[in-house]
Amino acid sequence: MSTLPQQTIDEVRSIFQAFLKKRNKRQTPERLAVLEEIYQTEDHIDADELYVRLKQDDAEVSRATVYNTLELLLECDLVVRHQFGKNQAKYERAYSYWQHDHLICMDCNELFEFCDPRLQSIQEMVADIYEFDIKHHSLNMYGHCIRDNCPNRADADDEAPPDASTAREAATDGV
Ligand SMILES: [Zn+2]
Ligand SMILES: [Zn+2]
Repeated sequence: MSTLPQQTIDEVRSIFQAFLKKRNKRQTPERLAVLEEIYQTEDHIDADELYVRLKQDDAEVSRATVYNTLELLLECDLVVRHQFGKNQAKYERAYSYWQHDHLICMDCNELFEFCDPRLQSIQEMVADIYEFDIKHHSLNMYGHCIRDNCPNRADADDEAPPDASTAREAATDGV
């Protein structure tokens, strides 16, 4: 992920302001602070982490405002929510950000983003067949990363993985 140019942040702010106006909601500096913080965030963040970052930046926001604003940002498609495993829901900016899916390591919770254009064509084909106006999709793949600093990396280095011998025993028992 990378930092977005100021122009994008400005565009996003106008979209959000127009949405709030349409909904007869006030354009408070707190709501705009939540929007800007999430657009300056380069990773996936849960509501509580976002609240902590806002506090660190001396923003005058309450936890409730963070939660309410995230709901509004979801409604106007400026933010997407992900449920990765059993963890707290994570949010990420959606406007002008590349279409991507996620790989999640079940050992270290590290998240990797990838993009495969074939998924986009599947989405278009499915939308066509089912006459469906698809707004977004969510594809999360879970597994074990093989990075050196992953907590489970030591197991991966073993010459004979314990799983393999157990599988062999089970196979022999079955004969
Ligand atoms: Zn890992
Ligand atoms: Zn992502």
